[in-house]
Amino acid sequence: MIDFALTDDHKTVAKLTADVAARHIKPKIADLDRAQKYDPALLDHLKEADLLGICIPEKYGGAGMDYISLGLVCEEMEYIDTSARVIFSVHIGLNSMCIYTWGNEDQKERYLIPQSRGEKIATFGLTEPAAGSDAVGILTTARKDGDLYILNGEKMWISLADVADNFLIFAWTDTDKQKKRDHSGLSAFIVERGYAGLSTGSLHGKLGVRAGNTGYIAMQDVEVPAANLLGKEGEGFKIAMSCLDNGRYTVAAGSTGLIRACMDAGREYCSTRKTFGETLDRHQLIKEMFAEMIYGYDAGRLLWQKAGWEKNRGVRSTRSTSLAKWFCTDQAEKAAYNAVQIHGAYGFSDEYPVERFFRNSKGASIYEGTREMQKLMQADYFLGIRTDRPPRCLLPAWNG
Ligand SMILES: Cc1cc2nc3c(=O)[nH]c(=O)nc-3n(C[C@H](O)[C@H](O)[C@H](O)COP(=O)(O)OP(=O)(O)OC[C@H]3O[C@@H](n4cnc5c(N)ncnc54)[C@H](O)[C@@H]3O)c2cc1C
Repeated sequence: MIDFALTDDHKTVAKLTADVAARHIKPKIADLDRAQKYDPALLDHLKEADLLGICIPEKYGGAGMDYISLGLVCEEMEYIDTSARVIFSVHIGLNSMCIYTWGNEDQKERYLIPQSRGEKIATFGLTEPAAGSDAVGILTTARKDGDLYILNGEKMWISLADVADNFLIFAWTDTDKQKKRDHSGLSAFIVERGYAGLSTGSLHGKLGVRAGNTGYIAMQDVEVPAANLLGKEGEGFKIAMSCLDNGRYTVAAGSTGLIRACMDAGREYCSTRKTFGETLDRHQLIKEMFAEMIYGYDAGRLLWQKAGWEKNRGVRSTRSTSLAKWFCTDQAEKAAYNAVQIHGAYGFSDEYPVERFFRNSKGASIYEGTREMQKLMQADYFLGIRTDRPPRCLLPAWNG
């Protein structure tokens, strides 16, 4: 039997997140966005609320909640601000959940537990200056040398690059396979800030997510202990794709929060603004914009919750997560576009939050696999060009 009802625990965690975001993020986000400034206090608030390991078992320092709870946290956070949700997504979705899935007990002890408790912050480094969608086009290498791997290369457009303590870095361990573009030559490494030869910097001048830290990671002869190889040599590509199965889920859920924020901002403005003798919400073409936002919100929510339901059961959710990510981010862009339209000229200024929503909405159809990559994936599944083979590792089912 399908059950669409949220449990009391779901409602509690959604309310907790909404309260934290309203109290600590909302009052300063417009200024931080304008100043393009990342606020480290944000992560402290999420840590205090015990959200940074929300769906990681208590045994590994987390709150032990299910994957629907993870989605609800993302929705509530992005209702207030996208930058906050991006930071959260990267830490837990792209990194911690991956170590939970692929890490050995020693790695979980050393990295997952402090990350779940919020004592350490983590990120995910796949993209490079010359390769984003085409992950096999990355150039970073990891040469084995006794008990070490020597990493060389550069990562670009990395969330929390200049802030994180731990990095998940993807690199070629087999350069012959690199020449043949055979992704089984890629491996994944847990790298710590402070390792000699690793430096980071921040990017400025972004269209959106301006209060989030986005940057680069440069690696010159960085010595990484062999014990920090995640999974086996050659499993890097599979690991990266499984990280994205989780990260995309958080992006999809977050986007429904942005749609709801656009709906509420539009309704509030409509009630005060009159044209032709009536408040804006009495005009049919304005109602149509709300109708489209409602369509995006409700259908989007069903899509990410279906993916969350699959994750809870421990079944592969690659296709449904990708569809949710594509649909929700697409609808969030449309909602933000319409929310600005409803505000007329005032939507064109930063006096109202819809201007920030509009700029922030664009990033999600680019990061964690562009809209085009999700479309290709859906078509490839349908045409039988892509099928899910049983993976060696799958996000563990929720057993709460
Ligand atoms: C705010 C932000 C945060 C990010 N955070 C991270 C992070 O934490 N870690 C990380 O590793 N990366 C991160 N990224 C990078 C992001 O994942 C990449 O930007 C994304 O994967 C796209 O890669 P690209 O920018 O190199 O575009 P490209 O791959 O160069 O693509 C350019 C355009 O061409 C299209 N395209 C490419 N190939 C095809 C094709 N075969 N068919 C049709 N269309 C195609 C794409 O869809 C896109 O529209 C972040 C990006 C942003 C903007």
